[in-house]
Amino acid sequence: MSNVRVRFAPSPTGALHIGGVRTALYNYLFARQNGGKMLLRIEDTDSNRFVPGAEEYIIESLKWLGIEIDEGVGVGGEHAPYRQSERKDIYRKYVDQLLNDGKAYIAFDTPEQLEAKRNEIKNFQYDATTRGMMTNSLTLDAEEVKSRIANGENYVVRIKIEPGEEVEVDDLIRGKVVINSSIIDDKVLYKSADNLPTYHLANIVDDHLMEITHVIRGEEWLPSAPLHVLLYRFLGWADTMPRFAHLPLLLKPQGNGKLSKRDGDKLGFPVFPLEWTDPKTGEKSKGYREEGYLPEAVINFLALLGWHPSSDQEMFTMDELIKEFSLDRVSKSGAKFDFEKGKWFNHQYLEKKDNKDLAVYLKKELDARGIKATDENIAKAAGHAKARANFANELWEQASFFFIAPESYDEKTVKKRWKVETPEIMSQLYTVLEKIEDFSLENTEKIVTKWIEEKGYGMGAVMNPLRLALVGESKGPHMFDITEILGKEETLRRLKKAIEVIPVSE
Ligand code: GLU
Repeated sequence: MSNVRVRFAPSPTGALHIGGVRTALYNYLFARQNGGKMLLRIEDTDSNRFVPGAEEYIIESLKWLGIEIDEGVGVGGEHAPYRQSERKDIYRKYVDQLLNDGKAYIAFDTPEQLEAKRNEIKNFQYDATTRGMMTNSLTLDAEEVKSRIANGENYVVRIKIEPGEEVEVDDLIRGKVVINSSIIDDKVLYKSADNLPTYHLANIVDDHLMEITHVIRGEEWLPSAPLHVLLYRFLGWADTMPRFAHLPLLLKPQGNGKLSKRDGDKLGFPVFPLEWTDPKTGEKSKGYREEGYLPEAVINFLALLGWHPSSDQEMFTMDELIKEFSLDRVSKSGAKFDFEKGKWFNHQYLEKKDNKDLAVYLKKELDARGIKATDENIAKAAGHAKARANFANELWEQASFFFIAPESYDEKTVKKRWKVETPEIMSQLYTVLEKIEDFSLENTEKIVTKWIEEKGYGMGAVMNPLRLALVGESKGPHMFDITEILGKEETLRRLKKAIEVIPVSE
């Protein structure tokens, strides 16, 4: 058994962005490949940004996509609880440890005071150069600090960064990143007002306690990594610090900047896995699931946004991805969100689907219209429609003519195909079809073709108007696939009506 343990640690601040889904996926692939564990931790220490329903949304999204959680929220495990708001007492202990060791200090500066300093000093940063002029346990005497706390004054605990040190982050994707500690500020680690740690402290404490071995997360967290390295050291955990891997950004389709929800709205693609309704504004956002995407297609598409396999293979099942995935082949530079490619993947997976499975989408539409059809025919119709659809919800559009007779006939096609001699040829064809007992594709095709040859009619002179009569326009699969699914009775009914109502063209 490997001891690889990774975590997906979203903050429940809204719908899970598709970039977050990719982070979850890469963590999952890495865990499975190494026979390790995938954890789900909810980082909800920022109560101002908490959005109800977001946690449930995250869990449902992962489930839909087949990203399985071994340990964490919704599953449990030996390090429970996995929701940070339920771990307050755990964090407080480490806050005290840092304070006792002189690695952190207490600060009383009010938001107004901080604002005043920012106005007074250009590019103000709370750090070694400024902390001496602020209201904190380094500038006040111990008695005053005690009495302020006893009086219930709010305070924060800040990390005490020593300036002038080269802090190294050894990233599995980016290599060594070195940052001078002088540019890191004395970040807030804890707030007495809600007795909660900030993201930085909670994240490090939990990664340590939950024995996380690899932190695989979005590039936006890279700037925090040096601070995290220092925190591990200050807490005495440098030896068991996880390895970092910061994933490249997802870029707009044109490659100019970070992919945003607005790009999706503008160009008509979802940036969320599932539909999402903002509980505050009521605003609805599209989701891949509701837009008719198959989870396998979304997984395949996302896997290749930032990672490339060793061959030029494009289609990967989850199991194949688990075998092939490697952090070595995750690129450093951002990945363009090629939405057209996403559609292409969905089409590929739709075509691979069993016709019987796709039949449910047609069945729903048929039921809604009270149309009866055999399961076999519905499956066959789905089989033809899937070649022409990118999404499951386009199947009906491609298959409805199998079940609903044309009410009108495409004008252009009528002009081109329904000639003076057509009604007579169609009437003869009607008689031929009427005599066929076995209406299977092969038999009907054989008999009709033979008849056309004997009569010396052109193939097109028969097939084109027949298609117009049965479908109403010039689309659809092979002619005798259509007659087979329609069956004899319906084929004859449609043909008869066409002969009666379609006007001839010179
Ligand atoms: N809670 C952070 C987020 O929402 C987690 C960052 C990390 O993985 O360390 O992305």
